[in-house]
Amino acid sequence: MIRIALSKGRIFKETLPLLAAADIVPVDDPETSRKLILDTNHDDVKLVIIRATDVPTYVQFGAADVGVAGKDVLMEHGGEGLYEPVDLKIARCKLMTAGLADAKAINGRKRIATKFVNVAKRFFESRGEQVEVIKLYGSMELGPIVGLADLIVDVVDTGNTLKANGLVPIDHIADISSRLIVNKAAMKMKHQRIQSLIDQVSKAVA
Ligand code: AMP
Repeated sequence: MIRIALSKGRIFKETLPLLAAADIVPVDDPETSRKLILDTNHDDVKLVIIRATDVPTYVQFGAADVGVAGKDVLMEHGGEGLYEPVDLKIARCKLMTAGLADAKAINGRKRIATKFVNVAKRFFESRGEQVEVIKLYGSMELGPIVGLADLIVDVVDTGNTLKANGLVPIDHIADISSRLIVNKAAMKMKHQRIQSLIDQVSKAVA
């Protein structure tokens, strides 16, 4: 049995052709089904549909053998217990800091609003800056506008969301894309099966 953890939406849609290249095709559509475990064309391959930020946790603890997670989510999680064998080159974006146009001129200890608390702490620490990090679960762009924070750390694609809210991108933290991740124990115990999945998916990416 191989369990593959995926999140709905963009990652699911863009992962489907890569799984199809490995001859894995879901029987149900997660956008219309309420099932959390989807059957596939193989009796011994199941897809578990979970929140994007939970994917590394499921794979870390072996509740799923394999998963697809954004590099942003993996950086925040820390990657413990996981291998990250394939860059799927999908759902690409950038992890950035952003703020109001005058944000660079702010003196003293800055407040950073983000759902990427660990990433933000590490980034500012690496620059020798002491900051206060405020955890949010969404709509980070609002933070600087209403005075909750000086800066945000968020993923940016076109930059349209920042622009629409009067924010400018400031520091580039990392380039982001989704990765195939594998539980370390499963990689040993189910080596043949998982290695063949890795090979087929890698080939489809290339
Ligand atoms: P943008 O194109 O920069 O306006 O991005 C639109 C929204 O989608 C922003 O709020 C981002 O947080 C989010 N976003 C863009 N690309 C990704 C991605 N690859 N993964 C997760 N969230 C994303």
